[in-house]
Amino acid sequence: MALRLALIAHDLKKDELVAFAARHAAFLSGCELVATGTTGARILEACPQLSVRRLKSGPLGGDQQIGALIADGAIDAMIFFVDPLTPLPHDVDVKALMRLAIVYDIAMALNPATAEVLVAAHGSDAARQP
Ligand code: PGA
Repeated sequence: MALRLALIAHDLKKDELVAFAARHAAFLSGCELVATGTTGARILEACPQLSVRRLKSGPLGGDQQIGALIADGAIDAMIFFVDPLTPLPHDVDVKALMRLAIVYDIAMALNPATAEVLVAAHGSDAARQP
């Protein structure tokens, strides 16, 4: 089954997530992708070959929509590039998604280094499949 992967990035981290998506477009094309509104739009702009289900923008409830998908068992892993240098307004969203990732034990990458590990792990899973 394709990896069901959620993608989110705070404003100053969107360039990093777009670069990550472009670097791993081949891997991501084998995933079921869901993203918050602006993040999804940015990824599609850079990688129009990907299929990305876009939810609402994060501040308008998109993060909560991803949380609901996690609670429904519809997400296997999440990449959320958080900007630690912005003040607290997004903090509740980060905490809520971290909490659900722990409750439902899904992989959650909060920075590029961990996202690379996630791709490496699942990339080799895919390579082992017949
Ligand atoms: P956005 O939402 O992709 O719509 O910007 C992300 C966020 O800020 O949580």
